[in-house]
Amino acid sequence: MSTPSGKPDAKAHFDLVVIGGGSGGLAGAFRAAEHGARVALLEPHLLGGTCVNVGCVPKKAMWLAAEAATRLQFAPTLGFPVAPAPLDWAEFIVHRERYIANIHASYRRRLDAAGIAVLPAWARLLDARTVECENGVRLHADRILIATGGRPLRPAIAGAELGGVSDDFFQWRAAPARVAVVGAGYIAVELAGLLQALGSQVELFVRGDRLLKEFDHELTTQLAEDYRQSGVRLHFGHHLTAVEAAGEGVRLRDGDGALGERFDALLFATGRQPNSDRLNLDAAGVAVDAAGHIVVDERHATSVEDLYAVGDCTANAALTPVAIAAARRLMDRLYGGREAVLDQRDIPTVVFSHPPIGQVGLTEAQARALHGDALVHVYRAGFRPMLYALADMPQRSVFKLVCLGDERRVIGIHLMGEAADEILQGFAVALKRGITLDDLRDTVAIHPTSAEEVVLMR
Ligand code: FAD
Ligand code: NDP
Repeated sequence: MSTPSGKPDAKAHFDLVVIGGGSGGLAGAFRAAEHGARVALLEPHLLGGTCVNVGCVPKKAMWLAAEAATRLQFAPTLGFPVAPAPLDWAEFIVHRERYIANIHASYRRRLDAAGIAVLPAWARLLDARTVECENGVRLHADRILIATGGRPLRPAIAGAELGGVSDDFFQWRAAPARVAVVGAGYIAVELAGLLQALGSQVELFVRGDRLLKEFDHELTTQLAEDYRQSGVRLHFGHHLTAVEAAGEGVRLRDGDGALGERFDALLFATGRQPNSDRLNLDAAGVAVDAAGHIVVDERHATSVEDLYAVGDCTANAALTPVAIAAARRLMDRLYGGREAVLDQRDIPTVVFSHPPIGQVGLTEAQARALHGDALVHVYRAGFRPMLYALADMPQRSVFKLVCLGDERRVIGIHLMGEAADEILQGFAVALKRGITLDDLRDTVAIHPTSAEEVVLMR
C-alpha cells in the first residue's frame, strides 16, 4: 500500500489507522498486521516516539555511563591504578545515537516487511472513520488507534522558558557545572542522580517533603540520604515562583521573593501532558478528562465506537511496557479472535536513580490504609552490597516485603539498591502468582548476591 514516496493514494482505505509511531502505536500496528489487518501508521517525527528518542533508551544509556563513572571513582580504592577522568560526552553520545539509529533501522525494516504504510505526517480526526494528514491526505479506516503519547510540562511561572525539559537534556553535549532540577518524580530523580555522577553539581528543588512520593517512604528516605552523600543538594518545601536570567545561566526566585544562587542550567521535571489537543477529538466526539487524557475503558475503547487509545495519551501508567501490552492485547482481540485484557494491577516499575528503586504491588502505607494495621506484616533487610563493602563505600540497600494476613501473602515488594532494577522482574512474576512469605523462604538462596536477601527475610 505504501508508494515509493511513502504516501498512500488519496482514497486509501485501511482496516486500521494508527496515529503515533511510539511504543504503543508501533506495537499495535505490528500486532494488527501480524493478524492480517491492512494498517497505516502516521508519525511525523522519529520512529519509536518518546521511549526510543527522548525517554527510556537515551536515559538508560546516560544512567549506564553514570554507573560506570561511579565505579571508576572508587576503582583506585580497590587497587586499580586508574585516575578518575570526566566522561567525554560527545564521544559517549556517538555510541548512544548509534544504538538508537539501529533501533530506527530495525523498525523501518520490520514495518516494510509487515506491509504497513508509514506516513511521516501529523494527523487529526475529521470524523470517527477519517484521519487527515497535515499535507491534506485523507485516510479512511474501519478502526483507529490513537497512541500520540505526551510531552513535558513546564510550570506556569515567569521565566519558565529559561529552563529546559527532558527533551532538551538529550540535546546536551557536555555536563554543565551547576544544574538546578525542579521536581521529585521519576525524571527529576533520574536526571539529578546521573548528572551528579557525571560530574555536575546538582541541586534538586522539591515543592513537597520527599522524593518519589508514590514509592515506599523508607526507601525514598534512604535514597535522599544517598543523594546527599553523593553531593546532590536537596531543597524540600521549595516554592518556585520565577526564573530569572543571570548571564548565560539562571537564578530561581522562591516563595519569599528571595533570589537564589546562579546555575548554568535549569531542568524542569514537573510532569507531562497528553498529546490530545491537536487531534481535533471533538469532531469525532472523543471524551477527554480534565488533564486532557483520552478517556478509555479497561479494553482501551474510547467514548466512540471503533476508536481506541493506548499509552501516555490516556491516564494509564505512563510506562512503555504498559503502552505496548495494552496495544498488543487490543489487537489480539480485534483481529486475532483472542480475548485478552491488560491487567493493570501490580505493574512493576523501576526508577533509574543511583542506586535504582523498584517496586511492585502496594507500599506499606497503601496496604495499611486498605487492609488495616492488624493484617499487614512488613519484613525488611538493610545491607551493604558486597562491592560497596569491599570499596568501603557507605551505599546501603533496603529491601522490603509487605505481606497480608496469617498466610503472609506477598502484596508488595520494594527494592532499593544495587541491581534492584534487574532483580525485580522475576519477583514481580511471583507476586502476581500470589506467592506467600513461606514460598520465598522455601526457595534456596543464590549466594552471594543481593537478590538472596529477598528469600532470606525474617
Ligand atoms: P510516545 O512514545 O510518546 O509516542 C507517541 C508518538 O505519537 C510520538 O512519536 C509523537 O511524535 C506521535 N504523535 C503525537 N501527536 C501526533 C499526531 N497528531 N499525529 C501523528 N503522530 C503524533 N518508561 C519506561 O517504561 N521505562 C523508562 O525507563 C522510562 N524512562 C523515561 C524517561 C523519560 C525522560 C521520559 C520522558 C519517559 C520515560 N518513560 C519510561 C515513559 C515512556 O517513554 C512512555 O510511557 C512511552 O514512550 C509511551 O508510549 P506512547 O506510545 O504512549 O507514546
Ligand atoms: P511525575 O509525575 O513522576 O513527577 C512530577 C514531579 O513534578 C512531581 O514531583 C511534582 O510534585 C513535581 N511538580 C509538578 N509541578 C510542579 C511545580 N509547578 N513546581 C515544582 N514541582 C512540580 O512526572 P515526570 O515528569 O517525572 O515523569 C512522567 C512520567 O513518565 C512518570 O510518572 C512515569 O510514569 C514516566 N517515566 C518513567 C520512568 C521509568 O519508568 N523509569 C522514567 C521517567 C518517566 P508533586 O509530587 O508535589 O505533585
